[in-house]
Amino acid sequence: MSKKRTFVSIDDIINEPYGYTYKEISECMGESEAKRMFFSLYKEKNKNQHQTIKIHSVNKDGTGTQKYVFKLSDNNYIETVSIKRRNGTTACVSTMVGCPVGCIFCESGSNGFIRNLTPSEIVQQVVLLPKDVNRIVFMGMGEPLFNYDSLIKSIHILRDRNGLDFSTSGITVSTVGPLNQLKKLREEHIKIQLTLSLHATTQKVRNMIIPNMAKSDVNSTVESMLSYSERHNRKITIAYLLIPGVNDKVSDVDKLIKWFYGKNVMVNLLQYNPTNCGKFKRPNKQMLSDFKMKLEKGGLYVKIRESKGTNINAACGQLVSEYNKKKNLDSKKNANTCK
Ligand code: SF4
Repeated sequence: MSKKRTFVSIDDIINEPYGYTYKEISECMGESEAKRMFFSLYKEKNKNQHQTIKIHSVNKDGTGTQKYVFKLSDNNYIETVSIKRRNGTTACVSTMVGCPVGCIFCESGSNGFIRNLTPSEIVQQVVLLPKDVNRIVFMGMGEPLFNYDSLIKSIHILRDRNGLDFSTSGITVSTVGPLNQLKKLREEHIKIQLTLSLHATTQKVRNMIIPNMAKSDVNSTVESMLSYSERHNRKITIAYLLIPGVNDKVSDVDKLIKWFYGKNVMVNLLQYNPTNCGKFKRPNKQMLSDFKMKLEKGGLYVKIRESKGTNINAACGQLVSEYNKKKNLDSKKNANTCK
């Protein structure tokens, strides 16, 4: 966690209690008050009394996937997806309003970056889901590692044994892999799961798919991920969105095998949700199976992942980007009438 110490007052804690670690509360208000507060925030059934973000709508798709749209205190919107699995519930959590990365297949990126979420806004997305969550993936709106301090602080809050006591092995951060932040994360004493959205094996193709990561050399990004995996003895996941004619060549197969053969890595082949941009063809199941087979022949461990929640716009940021677009248009209109 960032070593920067800031002064925390009782008022700060009372106004935004989900934004503080047990240690901060206890240093400011004493151990027994911190215990009482953490119990009331994380263990009591009615947690609504302390919330500063509000559920705006819930969309269900009938398969156990539910998309929560939260309204923030500044009237921006974020989304959190709750995905029911056989043995629990996964919360897919946002870390930003909008996103600066601009992946060409993603609605969150198409609106640009509005602001980072605070630790409190991140933590509340988990706490306010009605189902008991036993897995968290930072895979909603935003690039988590570009909101590094809030991300790490929220993980410290979520894993605190006085509160939710969330196991770090149940927390996954999905990232496009900014190099400086990957290096910092490697040195943290938190052993989370890490997924790299790779999507390409050459700099040129990656720059086309993830335009605002052009400064991060793709080879160094892969190297940093592998270094994290070795240091923390964790299997890392490589997300690869298969785009026919773009990143499914023989040379792509060869490069992936060269990078990951013999490493503690799983490759997730993804079939993306169609968004409004419609720039790409959706690969059919056969294309995914063929690519998977080629990688497996080269000794890689591969799974095909289908995105859940297509029917409720659960591709990252699709639903919320409409709300935020409207809100920003409205405020521009208002700004114009004021001139
Ligand atoms: S896919 Fe993730 S990193 Fe890329 S633009 Fe969307 S939210 Fe940002």
